[in-house]
Amino acid sequence: MLFSKKFVHKRTIFALLETYLIFLIIHLFEITTKMETLNYCNECKKLLNGRSDKKFCDEGCRNNHNNRLNSIAYKNVKNINKILRINRNVLNSLLPNEDKTTVSQKTLLILGFNFEYYTHTYQTKAGNQYYFVYEYGYLKLENNRIMIVKNKSISQ
Ligand SMILES: [Zn+2]
Repeated sequence: MLFSKKFVHKRTIFALLETYLIFLIIHLFEITTKMETLNYCNECKKLLNGRSDKKFCDEGCRNNHNNRLNSIAYKNVKNINKILRINRNVLNSLLPNEDKTTVSQKTLLILGFNFEYYTHTYQTKAGNQYYFVYEYGYLKLENNRIMIVKNKSISQ
């Protein structure tokens, strides 16, 4: 029994514990520092040797990584374009010939209109905010009514 009261004074135990704790803290600090300096490939996660600013093992991994990011970005663009196309078709179907019409918000929703996506906004001098999907715009009126207009027919 190394730490039994008989052989080791209490103060010695505390001194030993203190030394051990300091040693542990230094060791942990060294491990953390070492982990930070280790570099892994951003694509295949293999450990990299050499320069610390290296991000990939080789050109293959760099290309795979960039292609993957590009395809994710492209998918997002495609999805948003699809929503905008549907929104434009809905507005176009409700306003085939006239300059303006008024429908309920529900009608637009039933037809698959997504109010979160539009191409731009336009504020009239009177302070009305129009939302546009390409050349079709709409204005939110009272009682969940929506006025749909074509670009040329906005009254100031
Ligand atoms: Zn790699």
